[in-house]
Amino acid sequence: MNTAIQWFLWKGAIFKVPLSTLHLPKEEGGRALVHTMAKCVSLFITQIELQKQRTHTFTRDWLSRWQLLTRPSNPPNMKQIPAKFDYLYRYNIEAAYVPLVDISTTKKARKRICYTSLLHSIRKAADTPDLRIKRLWPTTDWSLVWTNVQNAPINEQMRCTWYHVIHDIIPTNERLHRIKIVPSEMCQGCTKIDTLLHRLTDCGEGIRIWQYMKTRLALILRTTPSRIRDDWLLRPQLKLWPEKKRNAVMWMLANVVEFSCQHRNTLSLQDFMEYLLRTRWKLLSHQRGRRQVGNYLTVLDQM
Ligand SMILES: [Zn+2]
Repeated sequence: MNTAIQWFLWKGAIFKVPLSTLHLPKEEGGRALVHTMAKCVSLFITQIELQKQRTHTFTRDWLSRWQLLTRPSNPPNMKQIPAKFDYLYRYNIEAAYVPLVDISTTKKARKRICYTSLLHSIRKAADTPDLRIKRLWPTTDWSLVWTNVQNAPINEQMRCTWYHVIHDIIPTNERLHRIKIVPSEMCQGCTKIDTLLHRLTDCGEGIRIWQYMKTRLALILRTTPSRIRDDWLLRPQLKLWPEKKRNAVMWMLANVVEFSCQHRNTLSLQDFMEYLLRTRWKLLSHQRGRRQVGNYLTVLDQM
């Protein structure tokens, strides 16, 4: 099942985000992908819990017989449950590690709490290491980065491209050369090393595009273009207020990333400016989009 999911998601891509990361909630750098085992077990536990509340059912009688109507102890006491009742045996083990939830909580919330705690204990048991980028950039405020990306007023395709860029899984020549897939680490369009940041800000028309965007960002942030940092494209840990200003800045950064990744080397600054006007029109044609960015994107019209 996991292999099928991996194949569907990556279709043979060279660098991947590990499945264990994709299972994480979006605000922790994952995509909230369902963990099939945790999901099955949590459905099983909530189903048994439901049987407990019913009267005169076989399952309830069996649960009562092995004192499972109350919460299993942690660590579980196996109480000599016969082998043929292996589902009760399993329940006794699994449920012991799920936190006790108030009975007044809705069924949906109880299912979610059960699933999340199982997911965390699976990660802990597997001793899953920290995200690779977290190890590379330990001082970055990653939860701020993920929250910003998650809340940015952009479409899912752009969010997905940015997700790949932030997780640093774009197959640049520098990385491909390191694992000996290509003969040179140099960029095919110029004479510099083909790193991720080079692709976004430092190659061909990309230089002019990024310079232009820096002047627009500087207008919003009331600063000079030289103070706009290149690494905001890779790690947008921006603390900005009000929210509309932050949304507008995130929208602009996301557009640079999307355009540079999709149309690298083929399109000009003029194309980029026209592309921006189109995507801005799309955003502002919805009331929600107008609420998200206010008037901040009028900087694109200023000379
Ligand atoms: Zn280049």
